Amino acid sequence: GRKFCVGGNWKCNGTLEEVKKIISILNAGDVPSSDVVEVVVSPPFVFLPLVKSELRPDFHVAAQNCWVKKGGAFTGEISAEMLVNLGIPWVIIGHSERRALLGETNEFVAEKVAYALSKGLKVIACVGETLEQREAGSTMDVVAAQTKAIADKISDWSNVVIAYEPVWAIGTGKVATPAQAQEVHAALRSWLSDNVSAEVAESTRILYGGSVSGANCKVLAAQPDVDGFLVGGASLKPEFIDIIKAAT
Ligand code: 13P
Repeated sequence: GRKFCVGGNWKCNGTLEEVKKIISILNAGDVPSSDVVEVVVSPPFVFLPLVKSELRPDFHVAAQNCWVKKGGAFTGEISAEMLVNLGIPWVIIGHSERRALLGETNEFVAEKVAYALSKGLKVIACVGETLEQREAGSTMDVVAAQTKAIADKISDWSNVVIAYEPVWAIGTGKVATPAQAQEVHAALRSWLSDNVSAEVAESTRILYGGSVSGANCKVLAAQPDVDGFLVGGASLKPEFIDIIKAAT
């Protein structure tokens, strides 16, 4: 079976004081064991060492991005090698905010995924359609193209988790209905089966992201192809503990 996975994407939020407070809330949280749920917390880069050292050992840490190739003269970037060097096991790649605001294309995202995997990082690769694309009926074409760009550049999917995050649901309070999430997750899984392999389709976890809350997580988690969540706003609150509990 696919182990339930809950990621907390803090985005560009947090002061040192706030980060310490979130860590203490997480450390005190009563959650199912790591045999049942994999928890990955993703603070801004500058807080990674602190969070890694202070966070309970059954929760893991992820960066929110990394550079597309080996480090060097790339001012402002953080390399996959640096994350590995610091013992950061995970990285989120291709978040819609980076695609939309920083111009990351499907190919660039796919190159980053491939490079990060080649250095031994585990990757949460994000896909998702805009409202305009959904209304035009092209949701599956969009997420398939995003996934295909990645599939073209990697062969081993064992360290990849896909996060389906419809852009219209991110930070809007307009969560996808369980049926909407299930429809895309099932279609993505069948795309993987047809284009990669039945084994990869069966084993790859597909997380849902976009306005996940303590109130809506249970019904979403009950969908057969929803293998966890990537949580934004609610991951900064005690509510994140309730979302982790949706694993059981
Ligand atoms: P919200 O949970 O704030 O909608 O953000 C979702 C997200 O983008 C997680 O990566």
